[in-house]
Amino acid sequence: MELIAPKQIANYIGGSLQAPLSGKYMPNINPATGEEYSQTPDSDSKDVEEAVGAAKAAFPGWSTTPVEERFKILNRIAELIDENLDALALAETNDNGKPLWLSKKVDIPRASSNFRFFATGIMHFSTDSHNMEDKAINYTLRQPIGVVGCISPWNLPLYLFTWKIAPALAAGNCVVSKPSEVTPMTGYLLSKICMEAGLPAGVLNILHGTGPGCGSAIVSHPEIKAISFTGSTRAGRDIAAIAAPMFKKVSLELGGKNPNIIFADCDWDKMMRTTIQSSFSNQGQICLCGSRILVEQSIYERFKDEFIARVRKLTVGDPLDYNSRQGAVVSMPHYEKVLGCIDLAKQEGGKVLLGGKPVKLEGRCANGLFIEPTIIEGLGPNCRTNMEEIFGPVVTIQPFATEDEALQLANASDYGLSATIWTQDVSRANRVAAKVHSGIIWVNCWLLRDLRTPFGGFRNSGVGREGGWEALRFFTEPKNVCIEL
Ligand code: NAD
Repeated sequence: MELIAPKQIANYIGGSLQAPLSGKYMPNINPATGEEYSQTPDSDSKDVEEAVGAAKAAFPGWSTTPVEERFKILNRIAELIDENLDALALAETNDNGKPLWLSKKVDIPRASSNFRFFATGIMHFSTDSHNMEDKAINYTLRQPIGVVGCISPWNLPLYLFTWKIAPALAAGNCVVSKPSEVTPMTGYLLSKICMEAGLPAGVLNILHGTGPGCGSAIVSHPEIKAISFTGSTRAGRDIAAIAAPMFKKVSLELGGKNPNIIFADCDWDKMMRTTIQSSFSNQGQICLCGSRILVEQSIYERFKDEFIARVRKLTVGDPLDYNSRQGAVVSMPHYEKVLGCIDLAKQEGGKVLLGGKPVKLEGRCANGLFIEPTIIEGLGPNCRTNMEEIFGPVVTIQPFATEDEALQLANASDYGLSATIWTQDVSRANRVAAKVHSGIIWVNCWLLRDLRTPFGGFRNSGVGREGGWEALRFFTEPKNVCIEL
């Protein structure tokens, strides 16, 4: 098959590609060039209704399809993603602004891994049995929920979309899903892959539209019994408010303001190399980026000098150029938001050590949305810059004197998604890991992912966990059967 990004994207409902019922579309803009290069459906509750109908009709068949058969289809989807790596990576980069090498190396391979992982996972999924000596035996059935909703953001478009859809489908559910309206193209191309892979009609429905127009219609639909959402804390709060009185299951993967804690005894070169990545990968638009860098006082000046010198060398450029380390940020509203956050940091008394300004490129990218990697110091833990998620190429650095102070700074945030700890002292690593209020802790590494591990955050970073059995449990209802002997 040949995947071509069309001028007009279509919804995937009941196994076929369809225009939105309203006939309304929105522009889809390449943030590296400013060009409107396709149009996205502006779907609404009527399209959601149709998708729910298709999903309901498909559920009896899909939920009773043997797991070996589900495995074969989902694994075929993974193979087709791999076979179409180049086309999908280009679509991701054109939609999102991230460097093409990054889409090829991380985003698209991870999307096929997600399908492969859960396709094989469902073959090994098992349930508990509780024996009451000679009285009774209980066993737990885990049954698919029915029709579920999956909604994902723009920062890792196909990567995060498939991270939800794959376990939902593997567990036997039918899905009504929505990728971000800011980056819809790879979600659309996935529709074509699903058709080619032989996924039965209605098992997966992919709608395109805005959060208020389409996303909230998915969340509030009474036939959709569970919602898996990744995105902002603001939208997560709105979704929780709708879902709670309807007693829906929710998994909310939300924002972060993650500490990167650097002790003086760290492996310096590895720490420095990785800290550059954890600060600025994907233009800082990864929920797991370490945007608050906490550095032990004794190495603070050395860290600052070397970090600035090395970040200065990161090339901001055309995402299609292999030498670009930094691409464009995703959209005009987001570009304005990030620049506004840098202004706010200055008003709060922050000193911009590096960057802080837009980058103007020549030629194809003259109208692109590029921002210099930015390093700010001089701000305490309680200012907005250190409390609110910026989600762009902006980090702050703060010194600490003791382990206790490092912990206080690390935990001085309403978020609790991830943290990174750099030390060669194993006892300290364990001690600090246990005391940081985050769901994901990396010691002497960052973004090293084993898909079997629980993934998610504390506090304002969300509710529930994705990954491994956690995801298959989320997408099934446990039912205890007690048999008296
Ligand atoms: P967003 O919340 O604006 O949108 C995310 C998705 O939700 C989009 O598809 C959007 O259309 C939809 N949406 C928005 N409002 C909605 C509503 N009221 N009801 C239903 N759907 C709605 O987030 P974004 O700007 O696309 O993504 C960036 C955010 O995502 C950041 O806060 C980032 O930290 C977070 N994020 C979290 C994780 C994680 O795993 N915890 C991963 C990636 C991104």
